[in-house]
Amino acid sequence: MATTFECPGCGETVSVEGPAGEVVPCPRCGRDIAVPPAPVVLDYAGAPSRWANHEGLADVAFIISFVGLVGLVVTEFAAIVGLIGAGLGTYVLVKSRRRPNRYGQRHWVVAAVYLGGVSVFVAIAMLII
Ligand SMILES: [Zn+2]
Repeated sequence: MATTFECPGCGETVSVEGPAGEVVPCPRCGRDIAVPPAPVVLDYAGAPSRWANHEGLADVAFIISFVGLVGLVVTEFAAIVGLIGAGLGTYVLVKSRRRPNRYGQRHWVVAAVYLGGVSVFVAIAMLII
């Protein structure tokens, strides 16, 4: 496979069949240049982090919903936070149907959706009363 690279001296595009490290003269300026290693294209195979796997989303949804519910003590507008938590929880539930192991603990998500929903209902009740 040919390696194509720019000559560091003159910028000429050089294409060489040789292996990386081989020194070849630039066809334009004659300078000796070492063939760089071919660019390696890696598949994404990095160590799966907690966040890359979205495992934390279940916990985050629960925490947001919980904050929304508790925040109702202060203001009914905290239901907006609860709604966000419920929305995130619903998103995780839908997503986790395909990849159940990817999104963390299911019971946290279900709790998030319920808590968020409850906070919205409580807020509506607070606004009516
Ligand atoms: Zn050159």
